[in-house]
Amino acid sequence: MTTTPTFDDQPDTDLVAAARAGDAEAFAELFRRHRPATYRAAAAYASSPTERDDLVAESFARLLMGIRSGRGPEGAVMPYLSRMIRNMAIDRWRLDRVVVSCEQPPEREPHYDEDGVVAAEQATLVARAFATLPKRWQDVLWYTEIDQEPPARVAPLLGITPNAVAALAYRAREGLRQAYLQVHTPSQDAGERCRTTLRQLGAWIRGGLSARTETSVGQHLEGCDRCRMAMGELAMINAEMSGGSERPDLGRESRPTGPQRPPGTGHPAAAPTVGPPRAGGADPGSGPARSRPGPRTLGRWSVAARTRRLCRPAPRRRRPVPGWRSRTARRAPP
Ligand SMILES: [Zn+2]
Repeated sequence: MTTTPTFDDQPDTDLVAAARAGDAEAFAELFRRHRPATYRAAAAYASSPTERDDLVAESFARLLMGIRSGRGPEGAVMPYLSRMIRNMAIDRWRLDRVVVSCEQPPEREPHYDEDGVVAAEQATLVARAFATLPKRWQDVLWYTEIDQEPPARVAPLLGITPNAVAALAYRAREGLRQAYLQVHTPSQDAGERCRTTLRQLGAWIRGGLSARTETSVGQHLEGCDRCRMAMGELAMINAEMSGGSERPDLGRESRPTGPQRPPGTGHPAAAPTVGPPRAGGADPGSGPARSRPGPRTLGRWSVAARTRRLCRPAPRRRRPVPGWRSRTARRAPP
């Protein structure tokens, strides 16, 4: 019997093997580990930040595709990425000599650039993702993430056991992460086959598709530059996201203490829905002593503020896989 090592301790080969077996967090760790060097490698070939970002996205997209299809690197990952970037840069250079492109791709800030604009944009995307979830998932996220109620108090509201609440909340959090990735991928101006693929990319990256669908998505990605590029960007966003496959950081420090308003009205039919945005975007649950209004009066910004914790970029220089944190903390000196 051996203890499970943290991702930090694992060599690339183990992470590749785990990613090959469908572990999205293992791939996210590979991305985090090699992102700085990959940016440096791409910068050596790129003539603009946009081209550099494209090369990075494409290289991680190809890496993930290779790993998922049983190929990919056998040893260290960075040499493999470097070779890919070099080959892609050469291909682009050859293509540029014969094709004069008039299409100017939009400048984009990197996803990990966390300023106010990015945070506001992210809040909107989280709210949009939340709105796409099944009502049952919205309900359990509302009670457990927004109202911060423990499973034992949510159980009677949903008419299920506390254990079932915990399991439902787990699925709903994973569903929110997939939906959050998905709202980054507009598909309206794509062809039918691309639309089908793009609609499934969020779940594909998180390993949430059936084997058959996963194969058909993978086959399309092999042959479609556009969808593969979109996948590369989502893979990067996924790697930036906090929230591993175990327990996410729920920010319990903001939980109010003392007597609380009973959650909801005690009847499942009164489960919350997303209401219109409130003026000023006030966060009505942030003070311990304030009485909180009922769920129906909370706006999408409050949904975003609370559930964003599940989708926020991971803190820098700290291993951002919450499920592993407790084990690390236990080993760390006091
Ligand atoms: Zn496509």
